[in-house]
Amino acid sequence: EKKEEKETFQFKIVFLGESAVGKSSVVIRFVRNSFSEKIESTIGATYTNTEVSLDDYIAKLQIWDTAGQERYHSLTPMYYRNSVGAFIVYDVTSADSFVRAQDWVHELRSQGAKNAKIMLLGNKIDLQERVVKEEVAMKYAEESNLLYAECSAKSGLGVNAAFLKLAKSIPKEM
Ligand code: GDP
Repeated sequence: EKKEEKETFQFKIVFLGESAVGKSSVVIRFVRNSFSEKIESTIGATYTNTEVSLDDYIAKLQIWDTAGQERYHSLTPMYYRNSVGAFIVYDVTSADSFVRAQDWVHELRSQGAKNAKIMLLGNKIDLQERVVKEEVAMKYAEESNLLYAECSAKSGLGVNAAFLKLAKSIPKEM
């Protein structure tokens, strides 16, 4: 008896956001279900392949994480070219990182893949020192037609749900 195989679709997903908001940590939490306070920065933009099983198909995600180029404002449009989804991450304890996230939204919309689904992702919700209120970020996301989620790469809370939500929102034919 042959098991019926689900169809697969490949999606390029990029991570954007200010340095140290936890982009690499979120990727590592999702792909390896682990967390570390010290992360070795990678050389050159790198991607990781992973899969998300949805109801009627499998989304193969090629996840691009920066290698810290965002620190020097030297991330080129080549990085997000052909991406169909993007996580724009900020740190809920940093107002600055939330402002920068909004800059990334504009940049991606003007330079990048015009139809890419964008998720605004507030990370580090395990910390007590939150300064960016959920309702403020949610309102901005709604007005800007972005998906929105919050998570903690450290505890793992919300990480899988955020990936699932973004993956589901991407049309298969993209
Ligand atoms: P990136 O530069 O945006 O890729 O950020 P990193 O993933 O390198 O994380 C920067 C620092 O924040 C590291 O010390 C992480 O351990 C820490 N970090 C990342 N995510 C979380 C989180 O959810 N909670 C807490 N408390 N710390 C985090």
